[in-house]
Amino acid sequence: MGIVIKCLAASFLLLSFHAVAGPQLYVFDCGTARLENLDMFNIKPEESDVRELFIPCYLIRHDNGILLWDGGLPKEVVGTKPDENAPGPTMRYDRWIIDQLADMDLAPADITFAAYSHLHFDHAGAANDLVANTVLMQQAEWDKAFDEGHEFVDPRLFAGLKTAKLQLIEGDFDVFGDGSVRLIYTPGHTPGHQSLLVMLENTGPVVLSGDLYHTRANRTLRRVPTFNYNAEQTLVSMDKIDKLLADTGATLWIGHDKELADTLKKAPAYYD
Ligand SMILES: [Zn+2]
Repeated sequence: MGIVIKCLAASFLLLSFHAVAGPQLYVFDCGTARLENLDMFNIKPEESDVRELFIPCYLIRHDNGILLWDGGLPKEVVGTKPDENAPGPTMRYDRWIIDQLADMDLAPADITFAAYSHLHFDHAGAANDLVANTVLMQQAEWDKAFDEGHEFVDPRLFAGLKTAKLQLIEGDFDVFGDGSVRLIYTPGHTPGHQSLLVMLENTGPVVLSGDLYHTRANRTLRRVPTFNYNAEQTLVSMDKIDKLLADTGATLWIGHDKELADTLKKAPAYYD
């Protein structure tokens, strides 16, 4: 009898261990953008030799659901051949994020939550395909989402959100209720910009920057891009993330950092 109880207790423990397994983080290649210079990020040519930005999408699997974080470039970019001689930025996007998810047997309907660091075109490309999900959106971002006149906002890319199940939030937000995946309110780049903290058990905590920073130089030189919504707010958000990194021991992943992205494993491989 005692052995049976011990076995039962052991199985229960194993089950509980499984139930509390931490989140898994997948990184997807959702394009690259090649630039002539970093002027718009307020970085002089001699201050950084970076001329290419990675454009990430991320998926976080948790016992209580799945979060898609950022939606990459617009679908129209997929398969187009960048004209290397054209002035201005050129973009490349090999495989549509929705197709990359399908490769992992995931349909949009399988995604519990969609959230965007912000609604610029290189982050909201798949937004219209993710409207059956609960969309976690900062109230401040939504309030200004359809304002005219920003060169990096294309409201057509997320018009479908008007009829989506929007969960409007204000400030930091604990996505799955156990503190392991948290939206961190970092306004400034846009009115309701947010970053994401993921507590990975083996990798350690990671903060996904969104566009709080575009390049490493922006961080080391504490330089605010010229096209940010509010420079002062941006600096406050930078301080907030510095404090979060210090408090949690988290590693900062700058989303557009191509040099970092080249070292990261891509889905279907994952970090846990
Ligand atoms: Zn961006």
